[in-house]
Amino acid sequence: MPARRLAARWVLPIAGPPIEGGAVLLGPDGRVQVVGPDAAVPRPPEVSGEEFAGGMLLPGLVNTHTHLELTGFDLAAPEPDFASWIGRVREIKESRSAEEFLAAARVGLSDCYAAGVTTVADTGDTGSVIQAMAEAGASGIAYQEVFGPGPGQMAESLAGLRGRMETSGRFAVGRVRLGLSPHAPYSVSGPLYAAVAAWAARDELPLAVHLAESRAESELLQRGTGPFAEAWRRRAIPLPGEQPHSPVEWLDRHGVLGERTLCIHLVQTGPGDVERLARRGCAVAHCPLSNAAHGHGAAPLARFLSHRLRVGLGTDSVLSVTRLDLLAEARAARALSGIDAESALELCTLGGAGALGLDREIGSLEVGKWGDCVVLRPASTGGSPAERALQAGRDDVIATFVGGREVYRAEPVRS
Ligand SMILES: [Zn+2]
Repeated sequence: MPARRLAARWVLPIAGPPIEGGAVLLGPDGRVQVVGPDAAVPRPPEVSGEEFAGGMLLPGLVNTHTHLELTGFDLAAPEPDFASWIGRVREIKESRSAEEFLAAARVGLSDCYAAGVTTVADTGDTGSVIQAMAEAGASGIAYQEVFGPGPGQMAESLAGLRGRMETSGRFAVGRVRLGLSPHAPYSVSGPLYAAVAAWAARDELPLAVHLAESRAESELLQRGTGPFAEAWRRRAIPLPGEQPHSPVEWLDRHGVLGERTLCIHLVQTGPGDVERLARRGCAVAHCPLSNAAHGHGAAPLARFLSHRLRVGLGTDSVLSVTRLDLLAEARAARALSGIDAESALELCTLGGAGALGLDREIGSLEVGKWGDCVVLRPASTGGSPAERALQAGRDDVIATFVGGREVYRAEPVRS
């Protein structure tokens, strides 16, 4: 791949202060060779250069939670309650063929690029997203989902999972990694959790779990009541019956919490839970707009940060939020926790990279890291460069690069 030089009105490396009139040189290996003030970045004659006069150049955004196979689905009616909504998602997924899932995953990945996202952590069960990522030479982790709330379903669930992991394994090439995702405490039994966690530990695979999202999930585990418990009774699935203090504690009893575990949502979490997650070294995919859209409440982001949990931001699927817009998530995270614009931008770049264990490779513009960048049209309102980047919208993305390769370019604005 040819080397590339990008200059912009502002360069925000995230790992260091903003550079006014900055540039980056991306090498033929797709990695950052030089970053700094324009005059200090070489202009090799054979390297194509481009200048974004009014633009702002940042590291590509990291979306730590997507379901790209659901791209294009629309659940028009408002949900009566979360448990019914989950049931409805399961139904509409049955209406789509394998080819349609693959087409949806490809569109979903393009949508990510158009929104300035260069790395995704995706959970899904069809295998379409890892295939779309491999074809596109994308960067990220595709977590293979597994379901099975009844302990009696475990052998069948594990056999299915083994088959899907084998099929998907051939797409784990380049910067695409495969992981495991035992879906959620209301859809996976304790023994199945323990078995999948042991598998992840043995094969050193990343794990992702939806955890402590709804009040209905807490009710099911802590008291055996509520809409999930009713749904289980209707399907003759035995209730967990362990009565833990919280969903986080329940998952810990089954050996799922560790440094490779990405916990998605974590809304229903008290101070003791956050301490436990910190002790185990877990990472967090914080999805403020999805949590709000479902009426789950707000996750204790400030407490996650004060306990030094590794936190990234995630959009969740188009069924929860209509547009995947990570900068909008960053603004929501800021409003929730009172962090400054710099910290909010860090959450959707270097923070997300750290949550995925990829912060030595991506998340900031530093020599040796991948040349993943986004060029934004900054908001015209005043404020610091970070503030102006944060206030930009999805439609302000001018261009996106993955490993120095252009993957998105906005249509020129007609005057
Ligand atoms: Zn999700």
